Amino acid sequence: MDNAATTRMCPAAVQAMQPYLTEFYGNPSAMYQAGRRAREAVRRSRDIISAMLGAKPDEIVFTSGGTEADNWALTAVLEAKKEQGNHIITSRIEHPAVLRTCEYLSRVRGAEITYLEPDENGVIRPETAAAAIRPDTILMSVMTANNEVGTLQPVAELGRLAHANGILFHTDAVQAFGHMPLSADEMEIDLLSASGHKFFGPKGCGFLYIRKGAGIGSMIRGGAQEYNRRAGTENVPGIVAMGAAAEEAEQWMEDRMRHETELRDYMIGRMRTEIPGVQLNGHPERRLPNNVSLQFPGISAESALIRLDLQGIAASAGSACSTGSLEPSHVLLAMGRSREEAFQSLRFTLSYETTRDEVNQVVEAMKQICNHGSCMETK
Ligand SMILES: *Cc1c(COP(=O)(O)O)cnc(C)c1O
Repeated sequence: MDNAATTRMCPAAVQAMQPYLTEFYGNPSAMYQAGRRAREAVRRSRDIISAMLGAKPDEIVFTSGGTEADNWALTAVLEAKKEQGNHIITSRIEHPAVLRTCEYLSRVRGAEITYLEPDENGVIRPETAAAAIRPDTILMSVMTANNEVGTLQPVAELGRLAHANGILFHTDAVQAFGHMPLSADEMEIDLLSASGHKFFGPKGCGFLYIRKGAGIGSMIRGGAQEYNRRAGTENVPGIVAMGAAAEEAEQWMEDRMRHETELRDYMIGRMRTEIPGVQLNGHPERRLPNNVSLQFPGISAESALIRLDLQGIAASAGSACSTGSLEPSHVLLAMGRSREEAFQSLRFTLSYETTRDEVNQVVEAMKQICNHGSCMETK
């Protein structure tokens, strides 16, 4: 129930990477056969991933994950566009990989940041974004789908708005890539971050899509790998596995989306009708197929998570990154929830492997938790 935090690698991905750990372990920069073999495998992953975005292969650069891709996108645009300005527009509900980078750029590199406020459903409205644009704005960065409440953003409209004003558009698509169809052109995206372990691929492997001509530089300097844009010997097994996971995601996307949407709506429906006062966090329709974020009045998310864990159920309060920090979710607060309400929220995120039986089990567990005294605990 915590597939937004990470996913189990799909069998195809595990199988695909194996030969590149043992037999074909050559350095992709090497001239001999073992190197060519590895190089060819990396190229194939790049082809698969670029095709899924309707992009060209040399617009995909492999990274160590979503966090690196986000750091790179924001930092590199600030450097590349310093003649044009130093103003970046982002939102309050971004992942820490974007938020902490913006704070750093503002503190150390002289960037000016505007944080857009979402509406009560977690949507960043294009009107809000339009009002924030200034002559010195160089970048707009708004996530494709929120990792905590699952709300999908109007990315195409935001991209169009950015381009109409000569601004680059970056989107953190870590929760969306491999889970729903995305098109770099139709959504007017210049930079897009994604991460293998969020779509049934390996951890420590992701990519940044960089539109040709965006003119942004490298962040990791060294060898000539990745078209001179991201130095360091490629994570060949990771890249191969991520490519295989992407291929599976593409092939089964419609089926997976249908399965997850059905279970999601069934789960939300049961929780809302069988537990008094339960409220949905995020947009009722425009949300990720696998996201069930709910507020259970009277419960403490922390003790609910412990009780769920005792039953072998892995769920999350807000995001994995904020769990344990005892801070309420910055996303829920930005959406207008009180601290108390934020502490009463749980996130369940499904996958193509989730069954109706499992959902029923979680609903029963939550009914029990809400009937018990523990739900009345206060912070
Ligand atoms: C998980 C996540 C990241 C970070 O990706 P890593 O590959 O774990 O570094 C960034 N943004 C969002 C929205 C995420 O869900």
